[in-house]
Parts: sequence; C-alpha cells; structure tokens
Amino acid sequence: FNRIHQLLDRNVALRGGETAVIDSDGRQVDWREYSAISEGYAELMTRGGVRPGDRVLIVAENCLSVAASIFGASRIGAWAVPVNARMAPHELDRIMSHADPAMVIFTSQVSKEAAAHADHCSAASVATGAGHVHVLWRDRTSEEVMEEGPGGVAVLLYTTGTTGDPKGVMLSHGNLLYAAKASAELRDLGPGDRVYGALPLTHVFGLASMLMASAHAGATVQLAARFSPAALYQALLDGVTVLPAVPQMHALLMAYAVENGHEKLDSAVLRYVSSGAAPLDPAWKRKAEGFYGIALQNGYGMTESTAGVSGTRNPRGLADISVGPALPGVEIALDESMGGEPGVGEVLTRGPHVMKGYFRNPSETAKAVSAEGWLRTGDLGKIDEKQYLHIVGRCKELIIRGGFNVYPPEVEAALNDHPAVVQSAVIGRRGEGGNEDILAFVQVTQPGVVQVSELKEFVAGRLSNYKRPSRIFLVEALPASATGKILKHRLLSHFADLLE
Ligand code: ATP
Ligand code: MG
Repeated sequence: FNRIHQLLDRNVALRGGETAVIDSDGRQVDWREYSAISEGYAELMTRGGVRPGDRVLIVAENCLSVAASIFGASRIGAWAVPVNARMAPHELDRIMSHADPAMVIFTSQVSKEAAAHADHCSAASVATGAGHVHVLWRDRTSEEVMEEGPGGVAVLLYTTGTTGDPKGVMLSHGNLLYAAKASAELRDLGPGDRVYGALPLTHVFGLASMLMASAHAGATVQLAARFSPAALYQALLDGVTVLPAVPQMHALLMAYAVENGHEKLDSAVLRYVSSGAAPLDPAWKRKAEGFYGIALQNGYGMTESTAGVSGTRNPRGLADISVGPALPGVEIALDESMGGEPGVGEVLTRGPHVMKGYFRNPSETAKAVSAEGWLRTGDLGKIDEKQYLHIVGRCKELIIRGGFNVYPPEVEAALNDHPAVVQSAVIGRRGEGGNEDILAFVQVTQPGVVQVSELKEFVAGRLSNYKRPSRIFLVEALPASATGKILKHRLLSHFADLLE
C-alpha cells in the first residue's frame, strides 16, 4: 500500500456490508458507504480546486465527516489537517496562516464551536454523504509538491502544546500505514471488534491508534463527538470491546461510575483497555483494573512518532507502570548525557514511525531528528532488564531542588493516591536562592472534601522531604487540551490569582 485510503478499499472488497463506523449521532455506516462518502469528499475537494500537496484544514469534533475527509484527501494526494474545533479564534487564525489551506471544512453539524468558527469565516453549508458541513475555499499563498509513493504527506497534525506552542508535524502515508498495523497487532484488533472513539481524531492517538488501526483491521469504530463519562459508560454496557483512552478519561469515567453507585463495570465483551498520551498513575491503574475487571495497558508515543513507540501486553495486577517494549521495527535508545542519574536519559527512537518533519520549520526538524534518523522525544526514561521502557518525566519539566532531581509524575502519583483527589499537576517554579519550588494543583472530587494540611500530611508519608510540594492549591478543574491532557505551561497564568 502507498496511501491510507487503500485501507478502506481493502475493507470494501473483504467485508463491504459490515459496519465500519457508528457515527456520533448513532448512524451505522458500512465499509461500502464509508468508502463512497470519502470519494464524495475527494470529488468536492477536486471541484473546489484542491490539488495534490494542498492542505485541507478540518475544524473538527469527531464524526464521520472527519474520518471520510481524511481518507478523501488521500485519494487526491492532498494533506488533511484535522484540528480541534474547541480552540479560540486567534488559535485557529494562527493555524490557518501556518497551514495555509486551500479548503477548510467545519464539522458544524456536530459541533457548535465549529459552527461558530464557520460563521466567523462566512463559510457556506454543503451537504455530504455524512450530513452537512460548512466549507470555505481559500487562495493558498504557496504550493507544496506532493511526493509520490508512501513518503508523501498524508496528514499535518499539530502537537498538544503541553510545553509551548503546538508544532505542525508532517506524517506520511507510510508513517500512518505502519502505525495502523503496529497498533492493530498490539491489540489483536479484528473485524469483530468495536473500538470506542472518544479520543479526538485531531490528536495522533485518536488518528493513528484508533481510526487507522481500526481501518487496518476491519474493526468498527464508534465515534463520540466529545468525551462524556455517561456516554462512555453506556457504550461499554452496549458492546464496546476495545477502549483506548487518555488516563484522565479513565479517571473521569471511574469518578462518574462511583458517583452513580457502580463499583465495577458489568461487561462480558470488553477485552482490551489502554491508556496513553500522558503518564499513567499507578493508583489509577490499580483502580481502573478493579473497575474494568481486565488489565490496563500503557502505550507511549507522541505526534512526532505517529503515536506508537512502545506498548505493554501485561497481565492484570502488575504494580509497575512501564510503557512496555518497543513496537516491532522500532528502535529505542537513551541519551544519558541529559538525565542527572545513571540509567536515566532522554529517550531517542528510530524507525518507520518517525515523522517527515515539522512543516515549514527545517531548523526545529534538524534539532528533533538527527541525520541518522533518531528522534529526540524530550522525555526522560530508563530501560529495565526486560528491555521495557519507563518514562520518568519530561526533560523540560524536570525539577531540580537542592541538587536533587524531582520528577513531577512521581509527586502527582502520591497526590492522586488520596481518595478525594481526581487528578493533579505538579510543576517547578524558580524561587528565592535559585531553588525550585514545587507547586501542586490538585483537582478534588468536591469543594471542601479535603484540606491542604491533610494532603500535605498524606504525601509526607509517601515522598521524601525534597520531593514534597512547597504549595498545594485545591482547584475545581485543570486547564486541559481537547484530548484531556493537562496543559502544564498554562497553569501559572491560569491560576495567577491563587499564586499572589
Ligand atoms: P508539545 O510537544 O506541543 O509540548 P505534547 O508533547 O504533549 O505537546 P503530544 O505529541 O500530544 O504533545 O504528546 C506526546 C507526549 O506525551 C510525550 O512526549 C510524553 O511526554 C507524553 N506521553 C505519551 N504517552 C505517555 C505515556 N504512556 N506515559 C507517559 N508519558 C506519555
Ligand atoms: Mg511534544
């Protein structure tokens, strides 16, 4: 295969009448219709003047239109650029001028945010096989040459922006076809599976591990426009077999279930649950395994590595939270000149999953990917005797206190162990004397359920002195991306009032 839409075509031949997608409004679509709808999008693009190498921006919340337009763009050699509709107008403007698309699709039918953006841009309503969307045609200022073969760009995907501004990552058809296969095989995905699709298709985890992997395996994907614990809970009762999610989704689902008196999920068909995209907390893992009744797997990757670097296939009940061995064909190494302690270093990875580069940013690309093809992940890790990788934190977020390294995920794990804590975010802030203060922002189940002094005492029993937070702030919610990842670089400005 050279192009991602060939995954759809293969399913049409093998299982045309089986359900491919359950759309976010409940409509079921088989492989034949799915493929035809993607052809409809390709025709719409061509009629509007989209040419190979042009970008098609998709202002999206999950629905069939997003999936079909990504495959539709592939049919004509255009690049799909799915971005989340829940961004502010100025953020969209920035992406619009960076991606410089020839066409913009707004998923206005499922998303009032997308509809508002469409209105703001005076986009026109268009009927498609997947319902209506709004479309805007633009004069792109520059053209890209579409490379023939699997090296051509399929998707331009922006990173989460956890540590700074989102970066535009060019993923090739070859990158996505590799990730689809690796992820499907890791999960033993097959035509009988129903994969829950609340991870945004605008994030690499949703795009590669959920949408592409399902298309590779001929599995059904059940799309959800946005994450809702109640809807997920119902879907699990209704026959979902595979649940990929970010840790925060598991935490919110369990909080919902417990609130409604369900200590344990009652599903006879759920067979695979995974966590990825952010650190998995040992306490959550334990709780989640109790709740789902099966093992919780942990997958590691990033936008620049088309999601998959490594993943576990563990039995239930393991206390360790490694991210598992490298996926087949993937190499992992550590650059120990980065980490303070022996055995800890920056994780490097090489293989068919490594991006083509950052769009229009050759200098950042050169910093991220070496001439030999090694991608610098920006994460600190270690490799154990089984060759399993463990992520200990991000290079940028490492806190140095009194000469000792403090990894925020370890402090967060201690806080999250408390029953009144939903989730937490720990960062360092340079204080007097050059030392870093450890600040903890803690989301609790209800206001007043626990006092700061009690939490301080609680973590004191779990963390050595230098790792304990200098200040703890109890908050109702943490700034998060559409995927549910906590946006750490926004914490200080978001909670500026509390910090005074
Ligand atoms: P930005 O690069 O814009 O700052 P980001 O790195 O959060 O944002 P993503 O590509 O969405 O953008 O996320 C990848 C990062 O998420 C990884 O580099 C790593 O820090 C973290 N991550 C992913 N999976 C795991 C995991 N299983 N355990 C721990 N951390 C993980
Ligand atoms: Mg990153």
